[in-house]
Amino acid sequence: MRKKIIAVFLAALTAFQLTGCTQLITRQIMEKQPDSESAVGEGMEEDRGQDTEGGTVEGIKQESAADGESSSEVRYQDDYYEYVNENILNEIELDATDAHWDWFSELSAYVSEEMSDITRDLVNDENVYPKGSSEQKIKDLYECVSNIENRNETGLGELQEYMDAIRSAKTIDEYVMALAKLSGDYGFSSIIGGYTVMQDRADSSKYAVYMMYADTLIGKEYIENQSAGEYVDLYLDYICDMLTEFGMSGSEAAKSADEIETLLRDICASTLSAEQLYDPAITYNTYTKEQLQKLYTNVDVDDMLRALRIDGQDKYIVMDVGQAEKINSLLVEENLQALKDYSTFVLLNDTAEYSSQNYARLKEDMDNALYGITQRWDDERVYMNMTQDLLPWDFGEIYVDRHFSEKDKKNVEDMIELILDEYEDIIMRQTWLSDATKRKAVRKLETMQVKIGYPDEWPAAKDMMQVVPVSEGGSLMSNMLTSMQVAIDDSLSRLGEEVDRSEWDVTPQTINAYYSPQNNEIVFPAAILQSPFYSGKRSDAANLGGIGYIIAHEVSHAFDSSGSLYDEYGNYNVWWTDEEREEYARLTQSIIDYYNGYEIMGIAVDGELTLMENIADLGAVTCIAAIIGDDEEALDEAFGQMAYNWASEDTASYMMYLINTDTHAPNKIRVNAVLSSCDAFYEIYDISESDGMYVAPEDRVGIWR
Ligand SMILES: [Zn+2]
Repeated sequence: MRKKIIAVFLAALTAFQLTGCTQLITRQIMEKQPDSESAVGEGMEEDRGQDTEGGTVEGIKQESAADGESSSEVRYQDDYYEYVNENILNEIELDATDAHWDWFSELSAYVSEEMSDITRDLVNDENVYPKGSSEQKIKDLYECVSNIENRNETGLGELQEYMDAIRSAKTIDEYVMALAKLSGDYGFSSIIGGYTVMQDRADSSKYAVYMMYADTLIGKEYIENQSAGEYVDLYLDYICDMLTEFGMSGSEAAKSADEIETLLRDICASTLSAEQLYDPAITYNTYTKEQLQKLYTNVDVDDMLRALRIDGQDKYIVMDVGQAEKINSLLVEENLQALKDYSTFVLLNDTAEYSSQNYARLKEDMDNALYGITQRWDDERVYMNMTQDLLPWDFGEIYVDRHFSEKDKKNVEDMIELILDEYEDIIMRQTWLSDATKRKAVRKLETMQVKIGYPDEWPAAKDMMQVVPVSEGGSLMSNMLTSMQVAIDDSLSRLGEEVDRSEWDVTPQTINAYYSPQNNEIVFPAAILQSPFYSGKRSDAANLGGIGYIIAHEVSHAFDSSGSLYDEYGNYNVWWTDEEREEYARLTQSIIDYYNGYEIMGIAVDGELTLMENIADLGAVTCIAAIIGDDEEALDEAFGQMAYNWASEDTASYMMYLINTDTHAPNKIRVNAVLSSCDAFYEIYDISESDGMYVAPEDRVGIWR
């Protein structure tokens, strides 16, 4: 949870359809480096033992066994995921510093380590590079990050005066203005005044201001979950510890934590659930400034918008109206002290990693407890990751220079072509859709933008972000604040401008992929084009089960329960007939019920929270199986590869976190539930009614079948 608030919200809102793990995952795993010093592709492929010609399920299983032996007691007919992954999962042992392992995190850790090598070389050489060059920025920033003495001396740095303004506010007006100034200048928000600039959902060629929701700390999902009580208690202790570190006495801090909890529970009770946040019908609420004043009766909206630097807009989009009403009702003098304490804690929490070491440690320990991690990362690993986080595009350019292959790009483009064609067939064979709707759906496929590798032009933010070294008065805090200012200036400069659809929201070194409904585009960063997801040396079937499945999943998001509400231009515009929407709703209910029936560690999967992703997974498997057709060996290979790619291992606490907050079902369910609903799976394997994987034909689900 690197707290670049705007960035996180942006990611959550525009690129929310990520295939693998989201930005919320802070801990990567495994230092299992290949021996080879060659590029990722070569070296890693060796290590993963996945590049044989005939990678059938048996082959994949055997090769992932440490000693080449398989001692399976699990039958694939009962649990396909366990069967395929038994060996690899036996090999994986989570380090005490990690909460989670899967191929996404494995590759992320690998890429990060490569970037760390570059950083080490730069830090250790004596060269002075031109001011403003990526090399010099990395050198200077690493020095700031690793200079603990400087960090301890700097504390909140430039933010101190903002903190003082919050602490000394004597009225609600003064309090709100202190928050608005903090948000307008640096993008930090707590209760009110958070906003982001994104494509307008009603007109995706323009940008609009979205008024964001409050920071709900550990989150509604934990606060309202009876079985998560121990984590909530831990979090309340953490609030207390942070406020004590801030200078409150133990009893003051305990009292404040109690009051913050009361506010938090009140706010959460009026907050949308995670799945509601993906529904534009609920979150797209346009307000003029005058209407906003009627919503926030306890605030001078004019003054607030000016301090936020967003006055003069025709409209403001309020994401969570119920929560805004609740917050307005809480903005009264009798709550002033509790509100100030709430915002104090949020600011300390948001900046903890960049502040003095005591704050950073408290936060790290809290995150670790939440995810079931029992040992802190070593300092160097923390410093390296932070340097990379703060200079994402500088590292991105370096990554592409060293690792991207145009040949791989061409191969993946061809595969995308194949998948889009197959999807057209899937759309055309739906008997419940009118011809007019089918035409619009096909149009959406034909106009879908495809981005692979890296942007043609590096974003302006790359050069806007400059690093001031310690020798010139810089610090980690001051440079982090510069990155926040750059993000705000960059987004404010877009208001009134035409949307540039060639821009990228993720860096090339990101191990992930996404569909953006506003741009009607699928995006595959350079780093995901590697084994085990993709290899130029592997069979087409294996690649279809790997990156092909991921591509088909992203394409399906254009037609999931949220994506289907946007047209080919990326505008929120329901292009279905009422009857079709009804049938769609009936199908989605069957998918919700189906997934609700699965459980992991005794906890039921949340079919509603995971609906969009499940629709995408089910669509993907249909598409891949249809492309392969009746070649049984190829199907076997593709299914096996797909199951293997989702192998994962989690601490119990981390699994709890995922089940509470992740819009993807747990990986094991993603594999088994999807295959159990896929007819082709039954055609190639002898699955009978008594088997664990068996689902009767009439109970199999999916929208795009
Ligand atoms: Zn997805």
